[in-house]
Amino acid sequence: MFVQVAIDLALDRLFTYSVPVELTEKLRVGQLLRVPFGGRVARGFALAVTDTAPAFKTKPVLAIEDESPFFSPALLKLVRWIADYTASPIETTLRAALPAAVLKPGARAKEMLYVDVGQPTGPLAAPNPAHGQLTLRQRQLVSEIARVGGGWMQQLVREFKTTPATLRGLAEKGVLSIAPRTARRDPLAGRNVLPTKPLPLNPLQQTALATILAGSDMSGASHPPVLLHGVTGSGKTEIYLQAIARMLEEGKGAIVLVPEISLTPQTVRRFAGRFGDRVAVLHSALSDGERYDEWHRIRTGAARVVVGPRSAVFAPVANLGLIVVDEEHDPSYKQEETPRYHARDVAVVRARLEGARVVLGSATPSLESWLNAQTGKYSLASVPARVAGRALPTVHLVNMEDEMARIGHLPIFSAALLDAIHRRLENGEQTILFLNRRGYSRILECPACNWVAECPDCSVPYTYHRADNCLRCHVCGGWMHVPASCPDCHGTDFSYTGIGTQRAESALHRCFPHAHILRMDADSTSRKMSHDDILSAFRAGKADVLLGTQMIAKGLDFPNVTLVGVLNADVSLHRPNPRASERTYQLLAQVSGRAGRAEKPGEVYIQTFSPDAPAIAAAASDKGFAAFASAELEDRKSAYLPPYCRLATLVFRAKDEALARSWAELYAKSLARWAEKYNGSVAKYPDHSVGSRVPRDRALFRVSEAAEAPLAKAEGWFRYQIVVRAPAAKDIVVAVKWIESARPVPKDVRLAVDIDAQSLA
Ligand code: ADP
Ligand code: ZN
Ligand code: ZN
Repeated sequence: MFVQVAIDLALDRLFTYSVPVELTEKLRVGQLLRVPFGGRVARGFALAVTDTAPAFKTKPVLAIEDESPFFSPALLKLVRWIADYTASPIETTLRAALPAAVLKPGARAKEMLYVDVGQPTGPLAAPNPAHGQLTLRQRQLVSEIARVGGGWMQQLVREFKTTPATLRGLAEKGVLSIAPRTARRDPLAGRNVLPTKPLPLNPLQQTALATILAGSDMSGASHPPVLLHGVTGSGKTEIYLQAIARMLEEGKGAIVLVPEISLTPQTVRRFAGRFGDRVAVLHSALSDGERYDEWHRIRTGAARVVVGPRSAVFAPVANLGLIVVDEEHDPSYKQEETPRYHARDVAVVRARLEGARVVLGSATPSLESWLNAQTGKYSLASVPARVAGRALPTVHLVNMEDEMARIGHLPIFSAALLDAIHRRLENGEQTILFLNRRGYSRILECPACNWVAECPDCSVPYTYHRADNCLRCHVCGGWMHVPASCPDCHGTDFSYTGIGTQRAESALHRCFPHAHILRMDADSTSRKMSHDDILSAFRAGKADVLLGTQMIAKGLDFPNVTLVGVLNADVSLHRPNPRASERTYQLLAQVSGRAGRAEKPGEVYIQTFSPDAPAIAAAASDKGFAAFASAELEDRKSAYLPPYCRLATLVFRAKDEALARSWAELYAKSLARWAEKYNGSVAKYPDHSVGSRVPRDRALFRVSEAAEAPLAKAEGWFRYQIVVRAPAAKDIVVAVKWIESARPVPKDVRLAVDIDAQSLA
């Protein structure tokens, strides 16, 4: 028997080993093995087993590290699919599919000393002869411990103000027993989670749930993916909860993916409240120990419902019944390092491989999923109204051009928005103000010569931070003090342009000196109050206004918020990104959805310089997502952009600019030649023009010139980019692999291929 092994250390290839007879019974694919590798011992995963001897000599497997496989055969298949689709090495993909904490040498369950009463005690128990020899204090201690039914040594020492030595002494006398026990490191410990019961669903929710739970469709595929398009506050989470409950009744497990940013205690509580201990949470803030324990609780089946961010799509849930991808349009589902997978797509493929159902939920679906629902590839479940007849908020656009003309300068807050905030303060209602950080961070500029303080290692301006009077780079984290004078003209009269959250906060203070304001952004959360503290304080009504960045855009449900203000809607519009319009619409709709979620109706003010831009106009119209999507899809189709093609970027990085550029140019030329051949062969089919020269608008494989990436330099590396479009991801991967094998990039150049790139960066 022989086994193919993917070795942790190595290169994109598998190595074949022979399996010693004593291991043949136990060896399974998915196990972690120990094998000899280049004169030392390496660890690797068993990927396939065969009886055919290879043509070359093989070494034997040394040992099986862990008999229960880390990957089921279906998960292995999934990992292989990802490696192929994203053109990533299989080892890197395997590693991405397992929490690092699980594989760390020495990772294991935590054991702590547990103290138990040795024999029944109490008034009715037979007297323990040893008890006679105890002091009064010792007797009291033993009966106290008996009363609470034993416990962790650490905890008992603290609670009963005793010492480990005292307890050990009692154990020696035989009245107590002390032994190590596995202690679960529970990420929810100490949180009070109130159990909840299913709510009676309204008819719209019922229909949606029925669509999700429907049996096989006509096409033979067992469960087509369901796109759950429900406006904000339409009760999508309640639908997920009831679908999961059904899975549990059928003895199946479920995975719920949420964007990292909305993996708040509030979200976790909703699932834990319904399913209790059966929920495992995978969260980036877990300790290694907690992550290890949660993962093992999933693997052993102790937990059947997994809630987590994109990597939770790999959770080893056996007999998987359902995967929910909440806020399926969210960009954080795309991993921005190798393997560059999209968790939504992985969820769809995993569900197909394991015969599970998959629900993609959003108020503003990605155009990819929306098109799939339009063409019938996905089933569509729509919930067009909020629960309990609650109205969607009224959205007003405020043209900042007019505002500027009226008062002679650009204000942070328009008169209309100030007035609306004022009314909320009078009524004791709450306001959320949203500021897209990147475009608005404060930049240090010399008005005399137009010098701008820029990070020397990255091609982005520094952001001014008032708290410590520093300039910080948001790409590499580098910083410097504000210079005494301009390095170009020696002027000392700097201006700070742009509006940061800090400046907006102080401006708001000036307008409303008595209002309580909470600010939430990357800086505020790293300091005194955590993300959760700020949100709980706001929920508890301890502030009138919550001011923040994208962080506050998603998923939050605050019943007393009746006003949402967007200070500048245009920021995400002017990005070099084919999805800029879609992202802007999504962001505005999500933020707006924070208003008026309870009985009181909500109002939204969107400040903009581009009230006519389709994404912004649509966010304020009552025609809703479908109207925006159909106009946007038209545009994408005529421009040959996703979802009508696959778009990939090739980014070449080097410390030397000329090197990065020349390799990008070389690849662009080779790809263009490949494209000509590809398009020529396609052109022979009657649908396309005759001859090998395909008119530009018919060419299906299109390659851009090599050009500086929008982020031209990062952390000292120069970046050049090629954009490739083709009908299928495979077309692009095949072309790139072919060129890579002929002209591999040298060591001092890094090439990153991003299939289905979400932005051009
Ligand atoms: P979404 O996820 O679509 O934004 P939620 O699931 O958060 O919506 O629901 C919004 C609010 O409505 C929540 O407070 C939820 O508890 C409540 N809710 C959901 N379904 C019902 C229902 N059928 N009856 C009453 N309240 C509901
Ligand atoms: Zn930098
Ligand atoms: Zn200057």
